[in-house]
Amino acid sequence: MAIHSPYSAPADIEKFLYKLVIQLLIFSQGSHKLLEPHLVTIGAKLRGGANLHDLLQELQSVSKTLLQISKQSKEEYEADSTVSGHTQQEYVLQRLDELLAEAEVPLRFEQQTTILKQRIRARQTGHAYKRVIDSAIELLLNIKDYGAAERKDLDLFLTDLTGQLNEIEQHAESAGEANKLSIDNRHMLSHEISRQVGDLKDSAQSAEELAELKTQTSEHLDRLLEQLLEHKQMEDERQLEAQKKIEMMTQKLQALETETETLRTKLKIEHDKALCDSLTGLPNRLAYNNRVEMEANRWKRYQAPLALVIWDIDHFKQINDNYGHKAGDKTLALVGQLLSSNCRETDFVARYGGEEFVMLMPNTREDQALEVAETIRDIIQHSGFHSNGEDINLTLSCGVSGFKEGDLHDDVFVRADQALYRSKQLGRNRCTLFTDDLG
Ligand code: GH3
Ligand code: MG
Ligand code: MG
Repeated sequence: MAIHSPYSAPADIEKFLYKLVIQLLIFSQGSHKLLEPHLVTIGAKLRGGANLHDLLQELQSVSKTLLQISKQSKEEYEADSTVSGHTQQEYVLQRLDELLAEAEVPLRFEQQTTILKQRIRARQTGHAYKRVIDSAIELLLNIKDYGAAERKDLDLFLTDLTGQLNEIEQHAESAGEANKLSIDNRHMLSHEISRQVGDLKDSAQSAEELAELKTQTSEHLDRLLEQLLEHKQMEDERQLEAQKKIEMMTQKLQALETETETLRTKLKIEHDKALCDSLTGLPNRLAYNNRVEMEANRWKRYQAPLALVIWDIDHFKQINDNYGHKAGDKTLALVGQLLSSNCRETDFVARYGGEEFVMLMPNTREDQALEVAETIRDIIQHSGFHSNGEDINLTLSCGVSGFKEGDLHDDVFVRADQALYRSKQLGRNRCTLFTDDLG
């Protein structure tokens, strides 16, 4: 009877082994000082998108080290492992948190990583703990696969491009050769003509009879004509050949241009995607970072006021807990839409992360920004949001601050965040303008 393994294809086995390596990495970190350097190297290689083959040598070292450790006395080992199951879980979660903090996460996984970090920090136990570990492994696998796919795409394009450029170069070379041949041919012809004319002169001088001269002249002229015709035919053929080559090169160049254009469009789509939060359709944190730099430069140059508002949904965790994650996501989308549709077109709204949004308001003093924020807060409170027929109490708090002379980097962000904190302290569903006593 056939035995059915869940890992039938080599790719499945490779994926399984890869998963195993990540599990090994997470679970054995901090377990023994001899293992630590190998685990650090494996961690670095995994983050760099290494495959199993790249890890082989390091895994062999781990295997040797494990044998060495197992040889050490049992008492020593028992004395070392005094951690209880619970604190061990705590330790693993902490390591995982550190691992993710160190990892260079591609943009498209940033949101997933943020959520995972929040789940890790919630220090869950039992089933939830296992799910967090599984999600972390899944995320690392996805990051690895994504990195590999990106590289493959680029490699393919570069190979193709190099091939096409080589071909064009060859055409250009042969066109140059054809041109050289045609010049040689012309030289040969003029040489031949002067030789025939020379011969004609000689025979005119040495001819004794007119009839003989006539015959010789007509023979020379025949040969000249023949050579001229031959030359013309060769030139025609060469020109035709050169024409064909030029047409081919033009076509190749056109194809290359189309391909480059496609790639450019693809890159633009990728770039736009990287700047957009898929859940709300709003610009994301990276887009905000770009925009705030631009607006701050304008503010410095034109001296028109610029204000920042940081929004945070009140008790959002309860919305998730009471109505489900889907309702939570719907809430985020609605809030994003209400925020952006109730401010000016020149204002900039982004989802900063989780349930936090930021609003940049050019040409707006902080007191004016506070007024606008109050109006929006009120609109959202009375938006009548509901899920499955149940009314959901949806309110937001915010902190407001204007950009100030001498501000460095994110000073204004820190002030608005402090004001937001005060809104929360004062009972939520309110807007607070930063004042010096908050700092
Ligand atoms: P507070 O009023 O103090 O802001 O309380 P809060 O519950 O809003 O804040 P807390 O930071 O405790 O919880 C934020 C929650 O937002 C926890 C997290 O699971 C949830 N969250 C973050 N991102 C998403 C998301 O993309 N979708 C959903 N549904 N929930 C998210
Ligand atoms: Mg928050
Ligand atoms: Mg909140």
